[in-house]
Amino acid sequence: MLRTTNRIMLSLAITALATLVLAACASSGASQSTPQGTAGRTLKVVTTVSPITSIVENIGGTRIQLEGIIPEGVNSHTFEPAPSVARVLSEADLIVLNGLFLEEPTLEMAEANKKPNAVVLALGEKAITREEWQFDFSFPESEGHPNPHLWPDPLLALRYAELVRDELARLDPANADYYRQNFEAFKARIEDLDRRIRAAIQTIPPGQRKLLTYHDSWAYFAKRYGMTVIGAVQPSDFSEPSAREVAGLIEQIRAEGVPAIFGSEVFPSKVMEQIARESGARFIDQLRDDDLPGAPGDPRHSYLGLMLTNMEIMVPALGGSAEPFNGFDPSPVFEGQSGAIYPQ
Ligand SMILES: [Zn+2]
Repeated sequence: MLRTTNRIMLSLAITALATLVLAACASSGASQSTPQGTAGRTLKVVTTVSPITSIVENIGGTRIQLEGIIPEGVNSHTFEPAPSVARVLSEADLIVLNGLFLEEPTLEMAEANKKPNAVVLALGEKAITREEWQFDFSFPESEGHPNPHLWPDPLLALRYAELVRDELARLDPANADYYRQNFEAFKARIEDLDRRIRAAIQTIPPGQRKLLTYHDSWAYFAKRYGMTVIGAVQPSDFSEPSAREVAGLIEQIRAEGVPAIFGSEVFPSKVMEQIARESGARFIDQLRDDDLPGAPGDPRHSYLGLMLTNMEIMVPALGGSAEPFNGFDPSPVFEGQSGAIYPQ
């Protein structure tokens, strides 16, 4: 009897010791790979589309654990997260979305699964007021959902970065100075990009500063830089336009003398080829709004790289010069590797 009790005590002691050793290994592993946040652990941040992941990465750098949800090259407007995403959301301290109705199924899943004290930050809703919402071709006012593509306007992307900085600093005050430094470096880069875009657009003949795109993602950009979005081909339900709408667009392109029209790799469209053929405009199918160029780790696989690449395509196609973009650095503003996850 006594021997049995001893054996149980011994095995309990061994189990307790093993647990301690395992816990010590786990915590030393964590502190080696990621620095500690204020509560003794690294902040877990989950984001949706890649440009937002990149903006958050630029501010959070190596001091946060960052995971994007929406794979590049999918239609983010209709994206439904897999059930397994619920676990990722349930572990987040901060969930950063665009909002403005872009990621409704992900937002619903976040609300249903998040930790009680986790923060959901919808950047688009805080970056502009309701009066600044833009309704247009694919986002008509009658449907109540504004154009959600604020980030192709670099100064609105800077506003996103500012909101991210403030939230990270609030949740993790021990690293607040680091987040502020990264923000200042990102701000300098955005201001540089903004000056270059202004200079480049000046080289486009004024009558050609017009955009006709397939996916309607340039509304805020165009307003910022004095361009006119003359149309977007994609209907609000993401189907293809009717024959009558196509005929109307062809007429409009001829009348306005638009030299090029733009498609996106995420939304290949035979209709765009037809419109280009019949209107005489060049068809450029490479603009992107949430699909970063290159692969994770490439300097251009970033928000700044996305905008740089778009500008190098858009400006010459409309008859201007991309020279003002020579020497622009699109790489992350912080030192080191962040380990951010960009699902592909
Ligand atoms: Zn979009």
